[in-house]
Amino acid sequence: MVAARTAPALPPGHPTLLYEALPQRKVRCTACARYCTIPEGSHGFCFVRANHAGKLELLTYGIVAAVQVDPVEKKPLSHYRPGTRVFGIGTHGCNWRCQYCQNFEISQDHGIEGRKLSPQEAVEWALRRECQGITFTYNEPTIFIEYAVDVIDEAHRHGLFANFVTNGYMTPEATDLLRGKLDAVSVDFKGSGEPGFMRKYIQAKGPEPILSSLEALAKNGTHVEVTNLIVPKVGDDPAALRKLAAWVRDHLGREVPFHLLRWHPDYKMMDLPETPIPTLEKLHAIAKEEGLDYVYLGNVWGHPLEHTYCPKCGSIAVDRYGFYIRSWNLDEQNRCKECLHPIPIVGHLPGEYEPTYVTPLM
Ligand code: SF4
Repeated sequence: MVAARTAPALPPGHPTLLYEALPQRKVRCTACARYCTIPEGSHGFCFVRANHAGKLELLTYGIVAAVQVDPVEKKPLSHYRPGTRVFGIGTHGCNWRCQYCQNFEISQDHGIEGRKLSPQEAVEWALRRECQGITFTYNEPTIFIEYAVDVIDEAHRHGLFANFVTNGYMTPEATDLLRGKLDAVSVDFKGSGEPGFMRKYIQAKGPEPILSSLEALAKNGTHVEVTNLIVPKVGDDPAALRKLAAWVRDHLGREVPFHLLRWHPDYKMMDLPETPIPTLEKLHAIAKEEGLDYVYLGNVWGHPLEHTYCPKCGSIAVDRYGFYIRSWNLDEQNRCKECLHPIPIVGHLPGEYEPTYVTPLM
């Protein structure tokens, strides 16, 4: 696509890695699947990658719009480093236009103001708050991938893990750059990736780039979890859910965690109710019918389908309440204590586990 937005006065940015130079000092951004062609003096669809004199620059490098300490289960990652605390970073801009975005103040804002936070400072902040990981979240991290990668390198030097919460609308160039960098990823479908829903409510063409990215990330050895936001009436099609669940089973494996998230009205979509819980339960049953072993409901605190169940004996392997773990019924090898079936969770709940409460830092 051609991005024709002209910014009146683009501030200087940081050099980027993912673009190609084109004739007439245009550039083609290769970070996300939009592949914006950007004339000199303009920026891409995400607002934050801009053409300065025929070179693509990132305007939000080291400028954060949201910083927060979260439990890793909030991302949601239910099978990776359980009970750990992550330092969450978000910036301005996004490559999607979700009509219900709950972070629209930063994701859909053209501004790039924020707090300066170098990769070194980000890791210092994380360590000071006793976090074990860094997470890029609140807006789409692919659009600021060069900053994320520098933070990740610094984080790894200090023994922290790194994960993206991403819509997955990436390119092969982006997944190549993330190889060996990302430890875990939560890839977030909306409305099961049904193309009509994506076109109307997200302004994205369809799920193919997400599926390709998921396969590439999994092949790279990144721990993968899949989420799916269920929007009532317009994004809750059972057939689309069945198709997505079958794809996950066939291309990623039946043990990949699959989260069905409850939606709530926000931003420009205030006219629909919260997702009815029976709708979520029905879709959960479909995903199980398709053979997925670990299907979760999210944003339904206290619901029995928040727990991790042993797929062999059906007992509760991890008893969950929202983002918190109430009991851990696995042995030292992460096997179900009842039947010794191995549960694929990376890491163990710390013996001194204390819940991490969501703590905004700006
Ligand atoms: S990251 Fe931004 S500039 Fe690059 S292709 Fe995507 S929307 Fe366009």
